[in-house]
Amino acid sequence: MTCVRGEKGIHRIPLALPRSLEPRREDLEEALLSAQRRLKDFADRNGWADLVKDRFADQAEIFNDKAEFDAALIRLTGADPSTKLPKTYSAALEKGVFLSVSPRLYQENYPQGSEDGAFEKLVAHEMAHRLHIRILKGDEDAMGPIWFYEGFAIHAAGQFETLPIRLSPEEIQEVVDSATRGSYAKYGAAFRHFLEKAPIQELVKRAGGKDFPDYLRRIDRPFLLTQATKGDCKGTILLVQGSAPFNIDGRIPVKGRSAYHNIEFYRDMADALNSYGWDVVRYAKPGVYKDRIDLNEYDKTDLATIMRQLNAIWNEMPSRKPRIIFAWSEGTLHASRLPLSEASAVILLGAISTNIRDVILAQGGSPKEIKAIRKMGREEMLGIDRPAGRLLDELAMADNWRFFEKHPDLPMLILHGEEDTEVPASHAKTWKTMLPRHRIDLVLKPSGNHMFGVAQSPDIAALAGTIQGWLAETLQTK
Ligand SMILES: [Zn+2]
Repeated sequence: MTCVRGEKGIHRIPLALPRSLEPRREDLEEALLSAQRRLKDFADRNGWADLVKDRFADQAEIFNDKAEFDAALIRLTGADPSTKLPKTYSAALEKGVFLSVSPRLYQENYPQGSEDGAFEKLVAHEMAHRLHIRILKGDEDAMGPIWFYEGFAIHAAGQFETLPIRLSPEEIQEVVDSATRGSYAKYGAAFRHFLEKAPIQELVKRAGGKDFPDYLRRIDRPFLLTQATKGDCKGTILLVQGSAPFNIDGRIPVKGRSAYHNIEFYRDMADALNSYGWDVVRYAKPGVYKDRIDLNEYDKTDLATIMRQLNAIWNEMPSRKPRIIFAWSEGTLHASRLPLSEASAVILLGAISTNIRDVILAQGGSPKEIKAIRKMGREEMLGIDRPAGRLLDELAMADNWRFFEKHPDLPMLILHGEEDTEVPASHAKTWKTMLPRHRIDLVLKPSGNHMFGVAQSPDIAALAGTIQGWLAETLQTK
């Protein structure tokens, strides 16, 4: 057994073949090598490079006859000789021995798996199971449900990647609930679905736990409803986020100088409103986790993505009691696109009443800079705040007050700090000017900042108190 020259962790595996496959020896040996390279790439990407250094197989045998493969596998594993293996069962890696049928038989017996590099991926798949066990330090029982460990191997090997299927939320749930073997294409799709919700290391770590299905449900609906801590729940308030990548607590989860790295705006707001008898819903945008930002996800959060998420959350909010929208800063552009006819009241803080172009210009930006943004790629980031695509979508929006025009009976509370340096307080007055027949109450806070606080901090007590007082009065008289 030798390493391939210059390639650490890529091993030449002695290969036994029937005479009929000898003419293909070179191709098959090459497939064994490329499978290892494929798996090594996957391991390197995920911080498991050390775990692929040692070889996964000491020898390999490829059969040109399915019955001979079955018999060899049964002999190797010591299984009951009368065991019937399914037609699609095409490869295994047990006790350091890789066994498989030939690429042609694999294709014939399992046409669903047919794709570029299918055989090489099959080899990588079997090795991926072994890698999975190494990650778990040998604890095979911790590999989780069948769909999960097969999904892991499918993903690691890159199977079903070229024509991925999309599963509905119900189909995903079906896969998660399944205990018997099912479609590998679906396993792959379900696994990749959850990869969009949580890091692979986290999934692997949790898969063996009893609460794994609960965990998956939670990350699938990435919002948090905290309940009223006093009296009967009066209704539900949705906290719509501003532009920055805030985590679910309202903190930017990376180090930096901005005040938003040190506060927990949404958590504090939720606590305060809970204590006034409101249920509160908060969330994080895709790609923002408690302690990190995944820019590969976050840079795709354009307006459509944000609104998909917000509408999904809105539809989950109990509709028998009042549903109230609280939105802050850039989030006020998103609040206006929620189903306003279903809302009982809207509260806007540091709100944009006209359009984002006005805000950029007021912050000292120039028309030239706006032009430059139009030339950027949609997934290019504008600082840490947002991808260019989102801003481009917003630049194309009508003035924000126009979205409220059709809802004159929707009570609106406009809150603005007079010293707001992000969205000028002049925006606050526009609401009443443009919507003269609406029920709009305006509260301007002298020396207040963008968070209704002073200096670098929010003023949660003043915010929640003002909101509670206004809601109590407004909903009663509605
Ligand atoms: Zn497998």
